[in-house]
Amino acid sequence: MSRVRRRADVEGEESERLAPEAVKSGESRGRVFEETEHAYRTAFQRDRDRVVHSRAFRRLEYKTQVFIYHEGDHYRNRLTHTLEGSQIARTIARALRLNEELAEAVVLAHDLGHTPFGHAGERALNELLRGEGGFDHNRQSLRIVDLLEERYPGFRGLNLTDETREGILKHGCSWEHPVRVPELGRQPSLEAQVADFSDEIAYINHDLDDGLRSGLLRLDQLAEVSLWDETRRGVEDRLGDVGERVLRAQTIVALIDRLVTDLVESTAARLEATPLGNVDAVRAHRERLVGYGAELAGAKGKLKRFLHENLYLHPRVKNVSERASGILGELYAAYREDPKLLPERVRGHFEADGEPRAIADYIAGMTDRFALQEHAARTDHPDPLLEGCHAPG
Ligand code: MG
Repeated sequence: MSRVRRRADVEGEESERLAPEAVKSGESRGRVFEETEHAYRTAFQRDRDRVVHSRAFRRLEYKTQVFIYHEGDHYRNRLTHTLEGSQIARTIARALRLNEELAEAVVLAHDLGHTPFGHAGERALNELLRGEGGFDHNRQSLRIVDLLEERYPGFRGLNLTDETREGILKHGCSWEHPVRVPELGRQPSLEAQVADFSDEIAYINHDLDDGLRSGLLRLDQLAEVSLWDETRRGVEDRLGDVGERVLRAQTIVALIDRLVTDLVESTAARLEATPLGNVDAVRAHRERLVGYGAELAGAKGKLKRFLHENLYLHPRVKNVSERASGILGELYAAYREDPKLLPERVRGHFEADGEPRAIADYIAGMTDRFALQEHAARTDHPDPLLEGCHAPG
């Protein structure tokens, strides 16, 4: 056996090891700009690494998930959310004999397009760009990997494979995109479907954890949510009196495990009942094959509704959201009024992308902290949110 495992070896192993419906690295539909393959990394390992080395990826650290970053050092931000999601995706993909690196690459890239201040920022930009085709974070993630990262000679963007871009697109592409969009079927690959569920499993659980830690959610409220309550009782029976802190952590661990296990088992059963044989048949199939069993799907739906009503719409979270919209709106107006406030690099994109889109790209790329500082510099009334904002050490 050779001491070095070359790409061709890994590709060969995949044909033995992966499910027939998995995407095989050696059969990728390729990149927009043709490149020589790497000596020992597969196409999707390369995609993953390109995402991790991008500027947009590093900025995720200072972008809000639910809690703005200066509210505390232990809350999730977009980066830790992304990392938790990507490792859940690897577990699920590996258990289902799917392409782990592809699922991982999709999750690592899936939130690159998020604006500062989470979904509030996204809604604000969508409103501002209403007459210009709107704004949504999936579209923005694709703009980042296809256009906005500048790292390579000869092309804009990261030149990722069609399979990773298919996963980033999520709900298809209903807008004008200046780069060739991968051919989309009725469904994306199983790896992209796994990526979607992994994102959801990650945020449900870490939002519960952060929600409880912050005091915005209370345990007595959660006692009425059956999925939480059952899981917590199961942990208590198994571990006895371990104290509230450990009990809460172990409930989250058990809940992630329960969601992942049900997803793996239910998906495997569906694939067993409907063997499609290859990835093209997965794309053409009338429904998604990755999913929970009916019972858990219902229980999870209730838990998500609980989070929505009690955490995402909590007055404290909403207050930050409203201020965030104001901040982004005023920044946008200031740049439109006087484009000289923008870096030359951004103005350089006016001709190709149009002024509103180029400004939105710039604002969307900002971290929370930078947006607050920029807002303070461009207007005469810094937002009080800036008060709690210190440069991280
Ligand atoms: Mg996400």
